[in-house]
Amino acid sequence: MQITSGTVVTIDYTLTDDQQRVIDTSEGGEPLTYLHGVGQLIAGLEKELEGKAAGAAFQVTISPEEGYGLRDDAKMAMIPLDRIDGAEDLQVGAQLSAMKDGMEQVVTVTKIENGIVTIDGNHPLAGVALHFDVTVRGVREATTDEIDHGHVHGPGHEHH
Ligand code: ZN
Repeated sequence: MQITSGTVVTIDYTLTDDQQRVIDTSEGGEPLTYLHGVGQLIAGLEKELEGKAAGAAFQVTISPEEGYGLRDDAKMAMIPLDRIDGAEDLQVGAQLSAMKDGMEQVVTVTKIENGIVTIDGNHPLAGVALHFDVTVRGVREATTDEIDHGHVHGPGHEHH
């Protein structure tokens, strides 16, 4: 059976960046099971998986445009420390929720200097080329319930 919209796919994967640093991997854990065609994976990876069958193994590099997007400097901001709640405990690398245009947004603290905090609303993987090493472990047809719900049911996937 081939991977197409409306199939449930199980993959093992390792994701590395340009410096061969491992960003994420299923090795040593559970393989990833997802519903294909509803945007649960980044677009570039779904496109590459389309048409593959169980047993297929491949490597693919996905550009930031088809991954987590390009970096946007407009998503960075500098805020005086005294305007942030709990500022005394703040550390570089911390993630905060911020309200922007009425939407909650997760931002990362990238610098604290001279009473000014620099925050970055870009996804941590924005602007990063993603190198995937993927093995397809299984493909099955999704049930009508799974398609209605837009997610996979079964062991390890609590129904909600
Ligand atoms: Zn459900």
